[in-house]
Amino acid sequence: MDLEQRIEKYAELLVVKGCALEQGQELYLNAPVQVVGFVRTLVKKAYEHGASYVTVNWHDGLVNRYTYDNAPLERFEHLPEWSAERANSMARNGAAVLTILSEDPLVMRGADQAKLVARTVAAHVDCKEYYDAIDFGKMRWCIAGAASEQWATRVFPETSPKESVARLWNAVLDASRVDEDPLAAWDKHQSSFAARKQWLNDQHFVALHYTASNGTDLVVGLLDRAHWEGGGQEGADGIYFFPNIPTEEVFTSPDRMHVDGIVYSALPLIHHGAPVEDFWIRFEGGRAIDYGAREGADILKGIIETDENSCRLGECALVPFKSPIRNTGILFYETLFDENASCHLAFGKGFPECYENGYEMSCLELLNAGVNDSATHVDFMIGTPDINIKGIHADGSTTNVFVNGNWAHDVL
Ligand code: ZN
Repeated sequence: MDLEQRIEKYAELLVVKGCALEQGQELYLNAPVQVVGFVRTLVKKAYEHGASYVTVNWHDGLVNRYTYDNAPLERFEHLPEWSAERANSMARNGAAVLTILSEDPLVMRGADQAKLVARTVAAHVDCKEYYDAIDFGKMRWCIAGAASEQWATRVFPETSPKESVARLWNAVLDASRVDEDPLAAWDKHQSSFAARKQWLNDQHFVALHYTASNGTDLVVGLLDRAHWEGGGQEGADGIYFFPNIPTEEVFTSPDRMHVDGIVYSALPLIHHGAPVEDFWIRFEGGRAIDYGAREGADILKGIIETDENSCRLGECALVPFKSPIRNTGILFYETLFDENASCHLAFGKGFPECYENGYEMSCLELLNAGVNDSATHVDFMIGTPDINIKGIHADGSTTNVFVNGNWAHDVL
């Protein structure tokens, strides 16, 4: 198969498995201008698979950067009314949302953090209908990558732009399991997730204890009525979709009040195009009480102090060191890919789908049950090759979950 054929199969995978687009459904496509050719392929595939209407929301990293550098802070405290209404109306119309990541991962390096934080908060307030539909399974959505020159030259600075783009495309496709029959490959991937989730849920761990040679020694409490998710997810209507392509993680929302100890980063965290490197965070009673970073400490501070609960964890995810993404040996500088190469935690919003009847609960009810709520959700990678994770049972006994960066037990 040549690269072009693989890309076409990938486009079909995103529409059919990622968004699970239905006959007559609308598609809302967030797309960077750098990959216009790929976006055209996606639009064509969407109509072939029954889309009633495709709206493309074009954006460009540099245009964004100029806006952040020049527009005053007040302009980021609210979204333009028409733009919020567009997103909210997509939610009301039951559209599926496909977001393509392709920007230079460092385009926002050094940009004003206050504006970036203000925009994150504003989007959640002004587009509440849209985000609630996404968070509570009323809308199907998928985030995936596409190789642009801007991104590829960041990942492969040593080769020509053209060669870098081809290399990055191949890495994206390998990581996304795009082979002769990607639809079947993803069905198979799904069944291995099912077995893994079953094993974890059957253990009923009350906490996980992480240790690694870099100094990580952290206990993350788990909620009695929470469970592990991974692979794809079922929306409120029971239709199955894959919100992230690729995905390798099994995850849950931990107890927002019970996280204690210290954790060290395993990979850089790129947030809104700005890097945080070699950082650590100390937790007490669920809260990040102290932290530091070799680079980007102000960005870490911005994340942790976004709002009242952004200093608490909304996610803990298990990802084995052995995976197609890790096998590429590449740091993508893009969380969607890098988080799927490493065990990670996330500050901010937790997942209703990980809690019993969570879709029927309000954010406040979930919060009181121990599932965190925040305007932000930021992943950071902690999975070193030597990370060990023990599951702690209610009686205090332990079971190995991860040994030396990989699953301790084969469950298939
Ligand atoms: Zn995750």
